[in-house]
Amino acid sequence: MGILKNIAIVSTGLIICLFFVRLILPTQIDDVSPSIFCEEELLDLADVYYVIPKFENVSTDKDWCDDILGRNKELRMHGVYHSFEEFAEVRDKEYLGEGIKIFEACFGFKPGRFKPPQIAWIGENDWMKDEIKVDLTWNEIFHKVYHCGDTGVIPNWVVRVF
Ligand SMILES: [Zn+2]
Repeated sequence: MGILKNIAIVSTGLIICLFFVRLILPTQIDDVSPSIFCEEELLDLADVYYVIPKFENVSTDKDWCDDILGRNKELRMHGVYHSFEEFAEVRDKEYLGEGIKIFEACFGFKPGRFKPPQIAWIGENDWMKDEIKVDLTWNEIFHKVYHCGDTGVIPNWVVRVF
């Protein structure tokens, strides 16, 4: 019984710690794109935007880019086309480069960090880590991550609470 009780106490402690870590670390929002509706409230709340360069083949336009830039948030890249599990397939330099090019044309600088859609990733794409910092599972655990369009595995209201 003693061991079970200790496990329960330690687990509760870890969950409480995680709650505060997620509360303190910068809040993120995924799926920022001109073709995905995003609540103003969430855009205000988030500190970091993960922008999709070419969602459904639609590139960013200047008005939209200026609007996003004007919000003074940290901007990172999220996929290239954001197809389902896009980076669970082998992707080459040219593929990544297309996203970076669109991102740079939009905001005037290259993205320093990248998050693959659905956090789907295979080792064959590890070469990308030499060019850009890749945010994977630990990032999702330690940060509150909202989604424009509320299409994440974890709904926005849960993210808000925990
Ligand atoms: Zn996404």
